[in-house]
Amino acid sequence: MPLQIVIVGAGVLGLTAALTVSENLIDEHEIYIIGEYGPHDPRLNTSMSNCHEYTSPWAGAHFRPFPSANEQDKKEMKMTRETLRYFAEVAVANPESSIQFVDGVEYLQSPNDLYKKVQYGYSEEMNNFATLNDQQGFTGFKYDTWVVNTVVYLQYLYRKLVFQQNVKFIHQKLDNLKQVTTMFKSPIIINCSGMGLQYNGGYDSQCFPIRGQTLLIKPPRSFKLDKTVTYQLADGSWIFIIPRPLNGGVILGGTKQKNDTHLGIRQEDTHHLINLGNKYFPDLRKRGGDKSYFDIERVNVGLRPARIGGLNTSVEFHDGHTVINNYGAGGMGYELSYGASLQVYSNLISVLNKSKL
Ligand SMILES: Cc1cc2nc3c(=O)[nH]c(=O)nc-3n(C[C@H](O)[C@H](O)[C@H](O)COP(=O)(O)OP(=O)(O)OC[C@H]3O[C@@H](n4cnc5c(N)ncnc54)[C@H](O)[C@@H]3O)c2cc1C
Repeated sequence: MPLQIVIVGAGVLGLTAALTVSENLIDEHEIYIIGEYGPHDPRLNTSMSNCHEYTSPWAGAHFRPFPSANEQDKKEMKMTRETLRYFAEVAVANPESSIQFVDGVEYLQSPNDLYKKVQYGYSEEMNNFATLNDQQGFTGFKYDTWVVNTVVYLQYLYRKLVFQQNVKFIHQKLDNLKQVTTMFKSPIIINCSGMGLQYNGGYDSQCFPIRGQTLLIKPPRSFKLDKTVTYQLADGSWIFIIPRPLNGGVILGGTKQKNDTHLGIRQEDTHHLINLGNKYFPDLRKRGGDKSYFDIERVNVGLRPARIGGLNTSVEFHDGHTVINNYGAGGMGYELSYGASLQVYSNLISVLNKSKL
């Protein structure tokens, strides 16, 4: 009987894990993805107005490296570089994926020592990394990085999985991971459920949401879409632009609100972003007569699935069933997606090798 691998979660982590496993595993296998939301859900192609529990479409998304402050950061940093190398290949071979390489520019008003000293984790493997001259009290850095149109990329992964890898999608909400063992005879479960659905129900108590609200802007024709720019301000707020490739507009973001689960749009957040946008990105405004304005196509809200201790890549055993964890990516789900999928694959191979002994 072929191995039955069941991935719970159809966000960027689940889809990428499915692709890496299906492309590399030699043993006879079947792969299933169960997701309450995902690119198999027709709502992804419409307003997605009810799907804010599913974070992946609402990300920027770009890659913004940062210096490692601890061992977990170092582990995740390696995953981001594995993803960077992989994305460089995909951008060339599959431009329809929407991955594009652009300049990454960052300005910090009050950088900590890790940034000032360009500590480990920040500049490693970042092509054309340079420190910029101080500008009006900001320390600046520049490097080559990638941007992605998230909705297009999720669809790209979905199509590859369905049409090339024969992965089957199941549109269902689970009460717990144990339920999977009643649906399949002897499944290996890969847990990519964002906030960490548990075997006996509930979500990982170490996980917490970081709410993000951004504005999707239709840029003026004159606006150059060749860089992603981030300002980290001394008061802790952020303002950034991320061009979304394949005519996907420009993300003007964004808020980072810990433990805030409000899924609706907050007007005060929109005003906050418009005020900072006016100051730092005035060229993104369109002109109409003697007025200028941000042409807002949509307001996005998403909850980054963060976890104390970072991404959970542990392996658990329950009632004789294996659960390989891959959740809690916080604000880095795209950035570490491929590296995390390699860890899943390596954990899967270890489990299979042990079972053959
Ligand atoms: C405003 C904003 C900006 C961001 N910018 C970036 C960026 O620039 N770069 C970057 O890398 N990341 C960014 N992120 C973070 C990124 O979006 C997340 O890290 C990533 O989407 C997490 O992916 P995931 O697959 O773990 O979770 P999700 O996308 O949330 O997917 C979880 C999956 O699990 C399923 N699921 C959960 N529970 C159940 C259940 N009980 N039954 C069935 N299915 C279930 C869901 O339906 C879904 O399919 C940003 C996020 C936000 C909100």
